[in-house]
Amino acid sequence: MSALDTAPATTSDPAEKQVDDRVDQLLAEHDPKTTPAVEFLGAQYDLGLAWVHFPDGFGGLGLTPKLQRHINERLAQVSAPTPYGRNPIGYGMGAPTIVTHGSDEQRRRYLRPLFTGEEVWCQLFSEPGAGSDVASLSTRAVRDGDEWIVNGQKVWTTLAHLSRWGMLIARTDPEAVKHKGMTYFVVDMHAPGVEVKPLFQITGEAEFNEVFFTDVRIPDSERLSDIGEGWRTSLTTLMNERVSIGGQIQPRGGGFIGEAVKVWKQKGCTDPARRDELMKLWIRAEVLRLTNIRAQQLRSVGTPGPAGSIGKAAAADFNTDVSEFCVDLLGAEGMLKPDGYPMDRPKHAMLWAGPQQAFLRMRANSIEGGTTEIMKNILGERVLGLPGDVRTDKELPWTKVPRS
Ligand SMILES: Cc1cc2nc3c(=O)[nH]c(=O)nc-3n(C[C@H](O)[C@H](O)[C@H](O)COP(=O)(O)OP(=O)(O)OC[C@H]3O[C@@H](n4cnc5c(N)ncnc54)[C@H](O)[C@@H]3O)c2cc1C
Repeated sequence: MSALDTAPATTSDPAEKQVDDRVDQLLAEHDPKTTPAVEFLGAQYDLGLAWVHFPDGFGGLGLTPKLQRHINERLAQVSAPTPYGRNPIGYGMGAPTIVTHGSDEQRRRYLRPLFTGEEVWCQLFSEPGAGSDVASLSTRAVRDGDEWIVNGQKVWTTLAHLSRWGMLIARTDPEAVKHKGMTYFVVDMHAPGVEVKPLFQITGEAEFNEVFFTDVRIPDSERLSDIGEGWRTSLTTLMNERVSIGGQIQPRGGGFIGEAVKVWKQKGCTDPARRDELMKLWIRAEVLRLTNIRAQQLRSVGTPGPAGSIGKAAAADFNTDVSEFCVDLLGAEGMLKPDGYPMDRPKHAMLWAGPQQAFLRMRANSIEGGTTEIMKNILGERVLGLPGDVRTDKELPWTKVPRS
């Protein structure tokens, strides 16, 4: 298919026209079928089509984020390489954090190789004693001249084994209240003292890891927040994480529901009760898709609000149910995982790799990126305005907060 085959109907919106012209240019100069993914994505970045709402020169054109869907749809039609699976944490969470809080130098250094997937990113937030309540974390960063020395442990760190850079929050003032004494850094995952160990999941793969820091030195120039203001910066990461996990907008009937329809057809199903189940799932997929489109349109400059938790919580339930439905349809075959339990460390995370794999992997959707209970708390408090959860340690210095 050539660029002309995908050309959209003429638009009168000058921003959309600008974007369409650039997509035409991208496809004319880089055939998505033959251009290596890194080269194609690099050209997409240089034309401002990576995150269209980012500033000019940093992978965007300073336009409304609504136009990104239009770009993505046009590129999907020609099966162009996508950045998400190559670097899901970097693409969905690292980039918006860097563009919002980083200096121009940091944006220049990090954004392009992040988008092309040449440099994978990971998120170093959760710890053995700090998950839902991540602000209670214990990893310490102590100032030493122009550097910080980091000691501590992170856990469940997706793709840390492939990562070049990590988004790290560490405690820099233990005497401040817990939300105030943290600072946000970019850490070089190849620095001396960083140790990454696999944690195997129910799928037989270790997408995530434990990460240990022993006297790891981070230059102060790699600090992403003001000292003690790491929580505010980490909210940008967390808000984007929810949208990154639950807010993906697939074509109508595409994504996981498309996979379920495929299994339905492959099995030649005719049972009306099963058909009813499939239709209910299809309707849920469509409601989720439309809700995510609405959320994207309400977002003006890219940082999602608490409503991102709707998509995150709904997608977790939906993904679990749809993969369960597929495995039910498969009958005995559903118990057989075709690729076995490889006990390896995959290069991708969060992708659909067959119904049996998905059935096992989707269980984690209600935990990763904030549990469904926490999403409901956010929705209750920050969207519906209900009374807040009881928080007894909010005003205490971190050193006085009881910990296990
Ligand atoms: C597949 C996967 C990938 C992950 N990747 C990363 C990653 O890359 N980087 C990273 O930093 N972290 C990652 N995580 C960690 C994830 O963010 C945490 O597991 C999650 O926030 C929950 O924390 P926890 O496991 O410590 O559970 P806990 O916080 O101990 O929660 C235990 C249970 O208590 C409930 N609970 C806790 N507090 C409340 C409350 N106030 N109200 C109601 N219920 C509550 C929870 O919902 C849960 O059911 C990943 C997790 C998974 C499963």
